[in-house]
Amino acid sequence: MTARILDGNALSAKLRGELAGQAAELAARGVPPGLAVILVGDNPASAVYVRNKVAACEKAGIRSLKFDYPQDAEPAAVLARIAALNDDPAVHGILVQLPLPPQFDEKQVLEAISVGKDVDGFHAENVGRLSQGQPAFFPCTPHGVMKMLEYGDIPVSGADAVVVGRSNIVGKPMAMLLTQAGATVTVCHSKTRDLAAHTRRADILVVAIGRALAIGAEMVKPGATVIDVGMNRFPDGHPKAGKLCGDVDFEAAREVAGAITPVPGGVGPMTITMLLANTIESARRAAEGRR
Ligand code: NDP
Repeated sequence: MTARILDGNALSAKLRGELAGQAAELAARGVPPGLAVILVGDNPASAVYVRNKVAACEKAGIRSLKFDYPQDAEPAAVLARIAALNDDPAVHGILVQLPLPPQFDEKQVLEAISVGKDVDGFHAENVGRLSQGQPAFFPCTPHGVMKMLEYGDIPVSGADAVVVGRSNIVGKPMAMLLTQAGATVTVCHSKTRDLAAHTRRADILVVAIGRALAIGAEMVKPGATVIDVGMNRFPDGHPKAGKLCGDVDFEAAREVAGAITPVPGGVGPMTITMLLANTIESARRAAEGRR
């Protein structure tokens, strides 16, 4: 069997087109959606992510404001900026690109963002709302995965889902969203004793580890849906050394799976799309006086 490809670029293009229409409607009502992005330090990957987010905003008609701070920035300066943005009615979303330099307490920074502007969905109150099934801003990557399952016509309710990885930004919220959608969810991590025994049972396998090619074809149930969140480089010695790859051995796993996301062109673009969606939702709330 050769798996159906779940194309994150194509779905993103469709959804971003719809979002651009919604942004234009909000602008016509006098509430042009606005996103503030804060970048601290000189992490090259973070700079690329921020550039992509800002470019995607502009293309969708979302006004973006970018604030750059040096690696040795005072946390107080960033916290003061967040406080000002919380009070700015033209700003509907605030994003602080992670990771932050070591002098920062990440939790303190994330909690400083107003819950209603926390379009990354990392604030403890949004996480709590998600866990209780209340309306919230969902973290963008797992939210994007749920959209891929929805538009890919992958049945979630009743499915056995296995999430590999338990980070706050991907694995844990992914497990919560799948649980709410009716899947029976197992969360695996570095302490899991027999990872393959779990992954081989999964109708839906979501992998968010951060290790190139960690999941081989022999770990995939025939016909399963495989969602690869990982973003790594092929290791030295590999014919594609240095090129982008996921946590799953795509070429091998696609021969076993029923549906699979590629890297690049899978979950990555969907993460940014859901950031745009959350920002527009926040602007809509403001336009309707629901904040
Ligand atoms: P973290 O490093 O925060 O978490 C990795 C998780 O994987 C941990 O829970 C860890 O377990 C687990 N893990 C590590 N090694 C193994 C192993 N051998 N077997 C089983 N579990 C293991 O990473 P993130 O969640 O932030 O990101 C994961 C990947 O997804 C990265 O490649 C990242 O670049 C990518 N990513 C992609 C995004 C996108 O838009 N496509 C967005 C965000 C992330 P433990 O908790 O026990 O240490």
